[in-house]
Amino acid sequence: MSTIKVKEKQFAISIPEAEILTAVQRVADAINHDLEGKEPLFLSVLNGAFMFTADLMKRITIPCEVSFIKLSSYEGTSSTGQVRQLMGLNQCIKGRTVVIVEDIVDTGLTMQKLLELLQAQEPAEVHIATLLLKPDKLKVPLHIEYAAMQIPNDFIVGYGLDYDGFGRNYKDIYTVISD
Ligand code: 5GP
Repeated sequence: MSTIKVKEKQFAISIPEAEILTAVQRVADAINHDLEGKEPLFLSVLNGAFMFTADLMKRITIPCEVSFIKLSSYEGTSSTGQVRQLMGLNQCIKGRTVVIVEDIVDTGLTMQKLLELLQAQEPAEVHIATLLLKPDKLKVPLHIEYAAMQIPNDFIVGYGLDYDGFGRNYKDIYTVISD
């Protein structure tokens, strides 16, 4: 399927599954190397990161834990810049090596807020793994060690990412071609 319709919008395929999985493997290899012996706790940010998290975790070979949190700031196709509270973190992260697993970093405001909330609980170190990064949109300085892929500013869906709740189920990533 090279084009799809999600609600009223048309999208064209931009990153096929095979390319995504190659990029995910690269991130997993780097984490397996860098965090060996640290027993990291992966914190997957729902909902968007669920598919990335599943594929990433299958490729992590060092002892680790995974947990799921929620913190959303996005409605429709443009970031509101508003952030909500952190939900679902029922584990003590004090002294732990934490890896945030996110679907996409756009302005970076969500990630900045999340880092702030996590730092208050005194983890030993926090790393960021994001499937996608829109470098031209980044508004705040962030140290992102593990960005699987960089993309232009266009709105995308698929592989966990949605448009108004729909489109998360596609295995490939699609870019909007009509408004
Ligand atoms: P930020 O706070 O970095 O501006 O926004 C991050 C959040 O916005 C992501 O976690 C994601 O939910 C959403 N987002 C940003 N760009 C896109 C996009 O192109 N497609 C979709 N579906 N969500 C996006």
